[in-house]
Amino acid sequence: LPSRHEAGVYSVWIEFSQLAVTTKCLNLGQGFPDYDPPSRFSDYLAQVATEKNSFFNQYTRGFGHARLVKALADLYSKLIDRKIDPMNEIMVTVGAYEALYCAIQGNIEVGDEAIIIEPFYDCYEPMVRTAGGIPRFIPLRNTKPNASTSHSSDWKLDPDELASLFNSKTKLIIINTPHNPLGKIFDYDELTMIANLAKKHNVLVISDEVYEWLVYKPTQHIRIATLPEMWQRTITIGSAGKTFSMTGWKLGWAYGPSYLMKNLCVVHQTAIYTCATTVQEAAARGFEHEIALLGTPNSYFQTLSDELQPKMNYLFKILQDGGFKPIMPEGGYFMIADWTNFG
Ligand code: PMP
Repeated sequence: LPSRHEAGVYSVWIEFSQLAVTTKCLNLGQGFPDYDPPSRFSDYLAQVATEKNSFFNQYTRGFGHARLVKALADLYSKLIDRKIDPMNEIMVTVGAYEALYCAIQGNIEVGDEAIIIEPFYDCYEPMVRTAGGIPRFIPLRNTKPNASTSHSSDWKLDPDELASLFNSKTKLIIINTPHNPLGKIFDYDELTMIANLAKKHNVLVISDEVYEWLVYKPTQHIRIATLPEMWQRTITIGSAGKTFSMTGWKLGWAYGPSYLMKNLCVVHQTAIYTCATTVQEAAARGFEHEIALLGTPNSYFQTLSDELQPKMNYLFKILQDGGFKPIMPEGGYFMIADWTNFG
């Protein structure tokens, strides 16, 4: 194995999945639903794959199937209140995972530093290292360690500590909101603090927002790309798998200004060239359906978190009753619980 790939050898997912099998315990560590996606998605996929004389069983446009990038541009133009160019400002990827890979690989030069906030989704670190970059870590700290109930919003960055990590080698900072695994959603002031540092030091922001629709009332998700002068230095990443509860579709995307997206496109066309056409066409039809429902109570973007919120409260109570100290999330799939009570 070439030494630049050493950082990718160990995988927490392989270790945990194997442990779950050998010890016959329930694996709650990996983020995927145990319920079906909205049935129209499977219907669309079946239709798309069986339509006669269609081109959907053949290759499509490399940087994203036209109907899908148009749907995504339509959706995000509304959400970030800015006209997004579907052909130059969005790229479709094999899950958000590939979008992260392209964003990191397409921007890190050997020796560049990348700021990663702990705890973090595990792939950020090997992705930075295999690109020749140097990760610089900063933890979210519990600002209310004595609170009777712990809340994900108690976990914060120390602004001075964060500022001290920026230097002339800093190329990018990766943020993840809603956060895996803390469930934290960065608020406006926190994002402004990060944005100001990024602007001051001319640093790129990669914003992993795969859980953008898993947001529990009353918290609201804010996209850092919408902050003043942040569009031009932000690459935002999303996932159809997380959005529509169909993680096996492995469909994701990145959006940002065209001059930044170009770098991602180069990595994508070298590694992947084009994603599955059937999946993209079916997802596009699904998105079009959702765009029409945006802001209504029937929107899946809304009903999904409405359905998960009582389940989250239930899990929180079970863990508490069992002697854990869980942290109440504001978003995402995960709940962290402190088990030190058990010695
Ligand atoms: N980012 C985060 C924070 C995630 O939790 C995940 C999946 N668990 C991904 C990215 C990757 O998403 P996808 O399945 O779309 O590749």
